[in-house]
Amino acid sequence: MSGVEIIQIRYGERVTSRSAVLHDYASYGLPDEDLRMDYNFWVLRTGGETMLLDTGYDIAARDWLGERPVIAPPEALRLLDIDPLEVSTVITSHFHYDHIGHLGLFRNAQVVAGAADHAYWFGKWERGELEGEFATAEHLEAVRLAEREGRLRLVTGETEVRPGITVRPVGGHSPGEVLTVAEARNGPVILAADAAHFYEQIEHEWPFFAFTDLPEMRAALSLINRLAAERGATVVPGHDARVRDRFPALAGPAAEFATVLG
Ligand SMILES: [Zn+2]
Repeated sequence: MSGVEIIQIRYGERVTSRSAVLHDYASYGLPDEDLRMDYNFWVLRTGGETMLLDTGYDIAARDWLGERPVIAPPEALRLLDIDPLEVSTVITSHFHYDHIGHLGLFRNAQVVAGAADHAYWFGKWERGELEGEFATAEHLEAVRLAEREGRLRLVTGETEVRPGITVRPVGGHSPGEVLTVAEARNGPVILAADAAHFYEQIEHEWPFFAFTDLPEMRAALSLINRLAAERGATVVPGHDARVRDRFPALAGPAAEFATVLG
């Protein structure tokens, strides 16, 4: 069986700390520690199709939290010989700036998103409540265009996007946050995106500081562990630089920013 090919693209990075990004970290009574945070999106290839999970954003135009660019996402795609117009599907883990910033490049792609994220963020936009939020009207415009063109697929439960690629809304960090499970050659891979930013969140089920629903976030972390145990799946947190210590770099000119997850 060939399986889904999964490549992680690291387009940005910054250094933060456990106490800055883990909810109520002081209550654990543990020393603080730096955390190297990567900003990623993922290429999924199966059955001759190229799909993406998330798109990254343009750090050079505006860094939100002091992110430093590693490579501009369009340039990364060019080096990987991926024409944005030939990407068939973009799964959006959620609508935060660092996940859908380049969605407008994928003019022919079906966009897969959690229905609850769509309702929440478009509701905020309509009410003029995006100021100071992690989503922007400019980015949501690309979602709206996909909707107008009949390219938007909103999901409310576990959904097979393609054979071997399933999404599952979990909420918590953002109301319609989705987990993606891809059946890679060496077994299933859970691409947690922002349902779990870092390995210690999975290991200890520690919530992230930014959430819309804390019980949902805790439930998502335990679901990740349950799925991983049941399916023998490998879990890949969405923003952890240590992912690159556990998986090989892609051979060739993309080695600097591309990691092979499956
Ligand atoms: Zn993120």
